[in-house]
This record gives sequence, structure tokens and C-alpha cells, in this order.
Amino acid sequence: MLLPVFYAPPENSDGVTVTLPDEESHHALRVMRLWPGSRVIVIDGLGTAFEGLIGDLVAQGSPVQVTVKNTIRNFGEPAAHLTLAAGLSVGSKFDTVVEKGTELGVKRFVPLLTEKSKVHIEDADRAAARVGRLEKVALAAAKQCRRSFRPEISAPVNLDAFLGRTDRHAMNLIFHAGPGALSLDRLSLRPNMPQVTLLVGPESGFSDEEVTRTLSAGFTPVSLGPRILRTETAGPVVCALVMNALGELS
Ligand code: SAH
Repeated sequence: MLLPVFYAPPENSDGVTVTLPDEESHHALRVMRLWPGSRVIVIDGLGTAFEGLIGDLVAQGSPVQVTVKNTIRNFGEPAAHLTLAAGLSVGSKFDTVVEKGTELGVKRFVPLLTEKSKVHIEDADRAAARVGRLEKVALAAAKQCRRSFRPEISAPVNLDAFLGRTDRHAMNLIFHAGPGALSLDRLSLRPNMPQVTLLVGPESGFSDEEVTRTLSAGFTPVSLGPRILRTETAGPVVCALVMNALGELS
């Protein structure tokens, strides 16, 4: 049986003992009904997992202490560093993209504000709240899928600012169903490719000018065929296809 996975931030561990935060302690004892001696895995969100045993409970309501037996670096992590930059959409569509993308091994999500985005985040507090919510989604998905790194959620950024920061030497792909777009199998995606960035439009797509600017910034246009996928479908699909091509799904 798979061991249950919990989260504790890095400062809760000294390498010998890990203290679970209150919410995670509650989940372990009251929801999962674990007891002293139960074997568990605790991820630190930065790419390390601790396998250990729940220690004796000091007092009613005191946090769970896990005695570390084994430290596993890069637990559940792919070798590839995949960034998914996708148009920020209304409602919970981006949450879906973060949840599925996390399961597929994405390291960083960039919510993009584009010309046709229906979302405009002028207000820093609202942007921070949205990022905070997405971080929670990413952590829950990381625990559920048994990886140790909580993917980074960048602050929402304009497409042009994002393009300005792109590493031209990495593999940069824009998914766009237009003339001249390649099919994925024409690209030389190899295992251990250090950095891959995938760009997906919001529900109303990219404007022609945005596509032109993205191509000038060194992105390769890729088509997913004749059917147009919704943005919340396209994000996870491109992650799955690229991860498979990189040898991460087998
Ligand atoms: N009405 C929009 C569709 C947007 S679909 C338009 O005409 O552009 C949302 C995003 O998913 C697109 O911007 C693109 O990045 C991606 N996408 C969906 N279907 C695709 C396909 N067949 N090929 C490549 N990208 C696709």
C-alpha cells in the first residue's frame, strides 16, 4: 500500500524530526486516523521527501512529529524543467490547468495577461490573492500525485514582459493552430532537456500581433491538429505530450 503523503515547510524539519503543521496533523490523526508508529511521507515542497514514523503524541492537540528514517531528494520529480505559461482565464479554468499540470510534472506556471484575456489584474492585492489560491491548488495536487516539489506560481504578467525574460537558448514552443505551425513529432524533444517553455493562449486565443511578437522572441509554433481545444484542455494536453516526448511518462 502507498504511504500517505503530508506537507511540512522546510523550517519544520531538522533532518531528524519533522513537525506537521496543525492542518496536516489534524488530517493525519482525525481524518486518516493514523497513530504513533504509522509510516508516512512528508514533502517539503522544495523537492525533498522524508519517510518516517509518527512519534508518540505529547498531548491532546499537539502537532504530529515524524521521526525521519529516510531522506529522498527529488522524490517524484521529473528531470525536465517544464514551464507552462498560459493565458489567465475567468473563473476556475486556470485552477484546472495548475492541478493537471502539477500532476504532469510542471515546475513553474506563469499566468499570462494577453490582449484577449478577459482578466485584468491591476490591483496587486487581487493578484496576490489569486496566486495564493493557485499555490494551494498546486500543493494539494503535488501531495495527491506524490511529488515533492510544489510548483512555483509566478505573479500574473503581460505577455510582452514574459517574452522579454525568455531564454532564447531553451526549447520555447507556442501552441497555435495556424499556417506554418509544426506538429510536435517534428521537434527534437529529448530526455534530459534542461528547460522547456510552453505557451498556451487564453479562451479567446492570441491575437495575430501577439503570435508575430512571440515568434520574433524565438518561440516555435506548434499545432495540435485541426480540432481547437479549450484553454483548460490545451494546457494539460501539451504538458502530457511534451512530458511523454521527454520520456517522463513511462
Ligand atoms: N478562439 C481561439 C481558441 C483558443 S483555444 C482562437 O481562435 O485562437 C486556447 C488556446 O489553446 C489557443 O490559444 C492555443 O494556444 C491552444 N490550442 C487549442 N487548440 C489548439 C490546436 N489545435 N493547436 C494548437 N494550439 C491549440
